[in-house]
Amino acid sequence: MARRKQTKVERSYAARRKAVWRKAKAAKVQAVLVSRPEDVGYLTGFTGHDSILALEDGWACLITDSRYAEQAEGECPDVALHVRTGEMAVAVGEALKGRRVRKVGVQAEHVTLQTARRFEQKLPTKRFEPVKDLTTRLRAVKTDAEVRAIRKAIRVAEGAFRELLGLGAKQWVGATERDLAAELEYRMRRGGADRPAFDTIVAAGAHGSRPHHHTGGTRIQAGQPVLIDWGASVGGYCSDLTRVVFLHRIPRKLGEIYEVVRRAQAAGIEAARPGVACKTVDAAARKVIAAAGYGEQFGHGLGHGVGRQVHEAPGLGKTSTARLRAGMVVTVEPGIYVPGVGGVRIEDDIRIGPRGACRLTGLPRAADAMIL
Ligand code: ZN
Ligand code: ZN
Repeated sequence: MARRKQTKVERSYAARRKAVWRKAKAAKVQAVLVSRPEDVGYLTGFTGHDSILALEDGWACLITDSRYAEQAEGECPDVALHVRTGEMAVAVGEALKGRRVRKVGVQAEHVTLQTARRFEQKLPTKRFEPVKDLTTRLRAVKTDAEVRAIRKAIRVAEGAFRELLGLGAKQWVGATERDLAAELEYRMRRGGADRPAFDTIVAAGAHGSRPHHHTGGTRIQAGQPVLIDWGASVGGYCSDLTRVVFLHRIPRKLGEIYEVVRRAQAAGIEAARPGVACKTVDAAARKVIAAAGYGEQFGHGLGHGVGRQVHEAPGLGKTSTARLRAGMVVTVEPGIYVPGVGGVRIEDDIRIGPRGACRLTGLPRAADAMIL
């Protein structure tokens, strides 16, 4: 029977598997088990969970179960399929049967100690070695198709946010943080999101001083700032944004902080170019905040890569060792947090182009534009 011709997309999955295999080979293993769902998807197009992609030179086998068998046949016809009926460790042994493989790599960041022990018990003739960062560098640089997917996730998140603003201050005042999060998530779903990219953060008033505030039952009051950090997951790709909305007026202190954060973000984006160290970009923004006297109130890193996972490489922080490369998509999200008063964070997603950064997010950043 003639071999089915590979489509362009399948070729790109095959190219990714080849690159990952090179990385695994450098770790001196004879096969590798890719188990993190985002990585399995990145290497095959498969969108299910609880499955392992076994890789060897020129060979790939997806080990899944009956829940996903039909889906896998449709989504990744170019990889071998092993539908397990028993436990995963046994199925891995079956899939690798007849292949001369002794040392098997597993994903250090994803496999639990319990799973690793089970593999060792069930497959005593094999040795399992943790392999780190199998896909990290590869996934950090996005293809044009991936950037389009991220843009879509941004459009959905922004559309929902605009609708939320459109409800007007009357609807906001008296609503709880949870109400606003639910409204936003509902609108993202209606707009095409598969799910929120992460738990939406809505922080009313002084709650804004906690960068990862737990959205709760506090009611929004007139005159308060409301910090919202949200994102959509669409077709396997995420967006991640933060804005502060002011109800009726901008409290003086918050207005002052807001301007500093806005300038810090602009400085960070300005510094982001291919070849620049990630920590240099962080420093460019941090300098602005420190000069205004708020250095101690900006405790987290400037940003992070965003893609299949909402947090991925590279990290933009003080201790980051990575350098920016063209094609990376990262967030830039400086913040100032003053306990008892509140906080301001402005977060946008940018793409590193050959000469500099281009903002993928389109929501306004001026404080005036955020008054309801
Ligand atoms: Zn965020
Ligand atoms: Zn973020």
